[in-house]
Amino acid sequence: MLAFLVAAALIGALIGSFLNVVIARIPAQIEHADRQMDATAKADEPPPGIAWPGSHCPHCKHPIRIRDNIPVISWLLLRGRCRDCGQAISARYPFTELLTGAVTAWLVWQYGLQPITGCLFVLSAWMIAMAVIDYETTLLPDALTLSGLWLGLLVSVGTDFISPTLAILGAALGYSSLWVINTTYRWLRGIDGLGYGDFKLFALIGAWGGPEALLMTLVVAPLAALGVLLLQAPFKGIDGQREIPFGPYLAIAGWVAITAPTAIASALPPWG
Ligand SMILES: [Zn+2]
Repeated sequence: MLAFLVAAALIGALIGSFLNVVIARIPAQIEHADRQMDATAKADEPPPGIAWPGSHCPHCKHPIRIRDNIPVISWLLLRGRCRDCGQAISARYPFTELLTGAVTAWLVWQYGLQPITGCLFVLSAWMIAMAVIDYETTLLPDALTLSGLWLGLLVSVGTDFISPTLAILGAALGYSSLWVINTTYRWLRGIDGLGYGDFKLFALIGAWGGPEALLMTLVVAPLAALGVLLLQAPFKGIDGQREIPFGPYLAIAGWVAITAPTAIASALPPWG
């Protein structure tokens, strides 16, 4: 079993390495699309691809050698710097790889090798990508929120993870509840407190976990956000006007709310 989990973690870390590419390129594609809308833009600029061209240094654009592309290890050996230009490479790269590896091993441990494990793995990869992209750019791309939402609805039809009724209710309730909260906030303060991407992400969480997961997410997410804010306070101070992306905390809390209840139930004794 241990060898199994180690293999799962390694495969997860490799996929996390690809996730880093997606995390960098989806916002770049959105920016490119925005520039195309701008009348002053050069119209013939091609959009950046997702998987092509291959990995390269974000600073000097030099392609990454195969031996420098080993998850986590390469970053540590290179001390977080590009081999060619010596510029710092964000700690986000090994962080995403470690996190994806750990989450993959945990899923295999909890759910074994069955179709739902694969589905939950896709969900986890989406959640990690959304959390990191929102943290870095305050964007929650439709390409991830909406596809994840549809996938959750399909999972409810194809597996017994959640009933389609609960999934549809959860999706509708997720979107509309945050919409109501935001509309009220805007009415009181004149500005948006949340982004529309947050509504879609919350709908996704409802589609995968139903109304119960929404409730659990709403309790856990603000606590996670508050915790991080307090931890940062001595360094950055507390500024009520500063825009804090809520997406990463929604993603973390939602992921816990979707995957943990089954895990907790399986850990309890059968008579509990
Ligand atoms: Zn470089």
